[in-house]
Amino acid sequence: MALKLDDNIFVTQLDQLANWVRKHSLWPMPFATACCGIELMATASSRYDIARFGSEAMRFSPRQCDVMIVAGRVVMKMVPVMQRIWLQMSEPKWCISMGACASSGGVFDTYAVVQGIDRFIPVDVYVPGCPPRPEQLIRAVIDLQEKIQKTGTINAREFDRRTAYEGPGALSKELDPKELVVAPGNFKTGTRVSLN
Ligand code: SF4
Repeated sequence: MALKLDDNIFVTQLDQLANWVRKHSLWPMPFATACCGIELMATASSRYDIARFGSEAMRFSPRQCDVMIVAGRVVMKMVPVMQRIWLQMSEPKWCISMGACASSGGVFDTYAVVQGIDRFIPVDVYVPGCPPRPEQLIRAVIDLQEKIQKTGTINAREFDRRTAYEGPGALSKELDPKELVVAPGNFKTGTRVSLN
């Protein structure tokens, strides 16, 4: 039986509709460097089935992805690589920092290991643990979906504030400003910013 016209009309805000579509079609970019990466792989297995959340389409081409999952410790030499991949991802994009190492350097309190990737790229959700279980990463995906639904706008105005790295302020004092390169999530520019 055909529905009446007024049963076929659904009224909502454009932002809400865009957020609803985006949050159910997250394509992760796996940036797995160490043991946490194994848990990331397990999350895609049939036992945990991240596909239930529309996030199973992991791609290794940044231009096809909109959520970077950094799983494992990141050494300073890998920072330019991580930033380049982040910048190659199109807006709007998000980042999940998976595990103690990615979020804080973990037990590797050394000059060679980044003491938190949020010093160089913006992070939306942090996953605690060493390593976090797949359930925790799934929780992070759900949290990210909620964040997108609550804060997203169709033209990504929410990213305008991302004009610099979002880590602890102390790092800006340690680096020579001429050497400082940040990876903004700015929707309008999406380009590498140098403070020269
Ligand atoms: S948080 Fe633990 S499991 Fe994850 S990369 Fe670091 S040492 Fe490995």
